[in-house]
Amino acid sequence: MQKNQRFFSAGDTIIRQGDTGTSAYIIESGRVEIVIETDYGGEQLVGTRGAGAMIGEMAIIDRAPRTATIRAIENCNLLEITQDNFDQRIKNADPVLCMAIQVILARYRDVLKRAQVIGEPPRSVLDSEAQEMNMVNSDSSALEALKIINDFENSLDKGEVSLNYQPIMNLETGKVAGYEALMRWIHPERGFISPGIFIPALEDSGLIVKASQWALNESLQALKRIEGKVGYESHLFMSVNFTSHDFSEDGFVDSVYETISATDIQPNQLHIEITERLLMGQPDKAAETLKMCRNAGIGISIDDFGTGYSSLSYLHAFPIDTLKIDRSFVMEMEKDDKMLEMVRSIIGLGKNLGMKLIAEGIETENEAKLLKKLGCEYGQGYYFCPPVDENNVVKYTKGE
Ligand code: C2E
Ligand code: CA
Ligand code: CA
Repeated sequence: MQKNQRFFSAGDTIIRQGDTGTSAYIIESGRVEIVIETDYGGEQLVGTRGAGAMIGEMAIIDRAPRTATIRAIENCNLLEITQDNFDQRIKNADPVLCMAIQVILARYRDVLKRAQVIGEPPRSVLDSEAQEMNMVNSDSSALEALKIINDFENSLDKGEVSLNYQPIMNLETGKVAGYEALMRWIHPERGFISPGIFIPALEDSGLIVKASQWALNESLQALKRIEGKVGYESHLFMSVNFTSHDFSEDGFVDSVYETISATDIQPNQLHIEITERLLMGQPDKAAETLKMCRNAGIGISIDDFGTGYSSLSYLHAFPIDTLKIDRSFVMEMEKDDKMLEMVRSIIGLGKNLGMKLIAEGIETENEAKLLKKLGCEYGQGYYFCPPVDENNVVKYTKGE
């Protein structure tokens, strides 16, 4: 089986509601919207997905008609996974594709387990899928994919994993307010692997905990060095991404405290980025962990805000101080009045709750101006600066 790359232009339909389909896709780059047809003949937007997300995966599980329409809202490169891929038990597959398949299978293992816990008879297809999983696990290319992920630890030691930093700008003053740390992995044989693929695979293997700890330590040390070069008075912050796996670790808060004191930064210079999904998945544990972090002065940001399915009531339940407006709203707000109203509402909501707002994915001057006019204080995106290495982020911050 060959790795099957598909390209869709912005506006193309990838999956049509009602059609039968035999492929799932992983988004390597670009963004899609998911809509469902309403009873009145209209369409209802149910969400958007970006790099690393899996779409249409039920087709490879149950061959039933598609339940939603998925359209490219920007040019997309997709990795196609067909039913045949599964039938051939991913023999000879590209290891990166295998890695992605391992992630999907792990997700369905969860679905299967949950179905059994709540007493629903698991569907026969899931049963056969479970057997399939065992076969996949013994498949050599799948093992190679696992090996790639296990190489990650080695790569960490050898410096093949690095962090890039994307400046987060104060839209009012035009100055750098802080940075988001984003992981980069150049595998010695496979080359660049997108974090959209390797982060979920690290989560699946449990290695994410070590990776996150490394990223936290590395990025806070970098912040200290950057401050030394650009001046301490700017009081810059570092925003670090965490997953639910990190939050499940008992020693999470302790290790964060330790890293802060070892790197000698102020606790309020660290922002923890988490998604709505993490909060929904383990609300009690998350609330407790976040409260301890917030009490210590650490900032808590909700990443990709507006793309989850959750209700807004959770915003009260957790000590959140920043909302990051997802890129999909920013990129559509000038073309689509509804999106503009969404951005306006999110800004209003955040402000009413006393939160800071960061708009993601600003690509044009007009978007930056419009967001500033709407009252959004902070923003990041290619218009200002893409994620770059430490030297270049110092230069950018100094205006060189
Ligand atoms: P994210 O946290 O939403 O990160 C923002 C992503 O948007 C980054 O992609 C960044 O390069 C991209 N981006 C920033 N500005 C623009 C723009 O103007 N236009 C466009 N088109 N894209 C923009 P990246 O670095 O590929 O990371 C993808 C995702 O992988 C991240 O999404 C995050 O969920 C995950 N990730 C990356 N590094 C880490 C990490 O250290 N830990 C964890 N847990 N996740 C990470
Ligand atoms: Ca983020
Ligand atoms: Ca984001």
